[in-house]
Amino acid sequence: MGTLENPVLRLVDRARRRSAWLYHFNAGACNGCDIELVACLTPRYDVEQLGIRLEGSPRHADILCVTGPVTRSTREALTIIHAQIPDPKVVVAIGSCPATCNVFAGSPMIAGPVDQVIPVDVYIAGCPPRPHSIIQGIAQAIEILVARKETGR
Ligand code: SF4
Repeated sequence: MGTLENPVLRLVDRARRRSAWLYHFNAGACNGCDIELVACLTPRYDVEQLGIRLEGSPRHADILCVTGPVTRSTREALTIIHAQIPDPKVVVAIGSCPATCNVFAGSPMIAGPVDQVIPVDVYIAGCPPRPHSIIQGIAQAIEILVARKETGR
């Protein structure tokens, strides 16, 4: 039975289009970007009312949010977590560190920016980016996710 013929999978598919579940991975951040991401969940920004929530398991997530540059010790874990998120998925790089390594560039402990380890779909600039920018980036990620669901890529 194909995905569209199976009523349970059809329901899961519909739910995934309407509410994006995020998995957050700190690849080596100073915690500044992590605090701003968590701020998006507070009553002030309240992204849960839009169906966006942080999920504790990558196997149940749609969008991988990465903060910080990739360190030599987190590189393998990032690869594994990325593989555990079911397709279609979207990767969001939050802050300057996952894009360029920022202030950590040149450190012997740094493996490199995120796109040297896994593909990145959305970059959110800032050190750290404000919650408004993070919400905007996640909205962009949801659009990409829906398009991938529709095209099956
Ligand atoms: S971008 Fe700035 S705030 Fe975010 S992890 Fe890097 S140094 Fe910290």
